[in-house]
Amino acid sequence: MIIKRFKAENFRNIEKCDIEFSPGVNLLYGKNAQGKTNVVEGIYYFSRGKSFRGREDKELVRFGSEGFRIHLEYRSDMGDESLEYAMFGKERLRKKNDYKISKVTEMIGSFKAVLFYPDDLGLVKDGPEERRGFLNVAASACYAPYIKYYSDYKKALENRNCILKMMQKGLPIDMREIESWSDSMAEYASHIYLFREDYVRRLTKYAGAILKEISDGGEELGLSYESSVAPGMTDRQAVKEEYRRILTSSLDREIAAGVTLFGPHRDDLEIKINGKSARSFASQGQQRSIVLALKLSEGEVIKEMCGEYPVFLFDDVLSELDERRRKYVLSEIGERQIIITCCDRGECVGFTDNEIEVSGGRYVSSYR
Ligand code: ATP
Ligand code: MG
Repeated sequence: MIIKRFKAENFRNIEKCDIEFSPGVNLLYGKNAQGKTNVVEGIYYFSRGKSFRGREDKELVRFGSEGFRIHLEYRSDMGDESLEYAMFGKERLRKKNDYKISKVTEMIGSFKAVLFYPDDLGLVKDGPEERRGFLNVAASACYAPYIKYYSDYKKALENRNCILKMMQKGLPIDMREIESWSDSMAEYASHIYLFREDYVRRLTKYAGAILKEISDGGEELGLSYESSVAPGMTDRQAVKEEYRRILTSSLDREIAAGVTLFGPHRDDLEIKINGKSARSFASQGQQRSIVLALKLSEGEVIKEMCGEYPVFLFDDVLSELDERRRKYVLSEIGERQIIITCCDRGECVGFTDNEIEVSGGRYVSSYR
């Protein structure tokens, strides 16, 4: 997948831009607060259907304007494609290949990108929530129904938690209601479990080899999916039954806690380095290498499952990597397209195919 062009109007600090990208390595460079991440945010919007900075759409509107428009042209195995999104007050306009589409779910799924940005560096050391977030984003790029199962699961979880809170307070409830939510949760959880199991198995295949290569053969990576259900189950009905059994048998504890204690919302991705918990023992450099290996592997799994590489968006993380790892990222490109942002142009000398100077929401390209 290759981005050819990104256009934006009144998006963040960009009044108007029209940026062309090359295959290979594209560098957006410039001082702080000039609009480098804003471009990455605009591009990635088409991959997730929302901003990765987790804000509401209206925050994306340039100060003093009424709305914004973003437009992406890219080449995929399907041919030349385009996506457009605009908001103006309460109005939303979405287009795919110049045809209007109504739902955000129709917009996402066709353009695939892997984002690596500074917050990701916490993936190893931070709590399980970060790693679940990684699994959710990565798995939803590979399995189309994943998002729907996950959002249905979350709704059922909220409802079940509401009832548990009532029970904790001694309020009267209809037992059939909690049983019905437990059943829904077990159903959705079984799908999520199987997707995550499959995803982690595929990811492991690549991540170990990549880590070995960027660490000069020194480090051994271990990844395992930790869930309430035993690992390695493959029969969905059996997984569902297991979730039901867990939810039923732990009801007393859950009433006391007032929340659901078991299920995919409590899962983790355990990361080991040389046989030891990376969360407890990995050094700063090792953490960075692991996250880099995970991100590159995320792209490999997309290639394996969808037939082509996603676009790699590296926002401000290159300076965090040492020379060796930086070279690995920039030189072993093959057919991949990479868009990198950094302040110091010198960090990428000799590796770029296109360099774009960013200043005050303006973009000036110099092809090499
Ligand atoms: P850094 O190197 O620090 O990461 P950057 O070039 O990536 O900088 P961006 O995050 O792309 O910077 O852009 C930040 C600029 O955009 C800031 O000056 C910020 O005030 C401005 N900005 C953010 N949101 C809006 C908005 N809605 N309207 C106008 N300007 C905005
Ligand atoms: Mg930035």
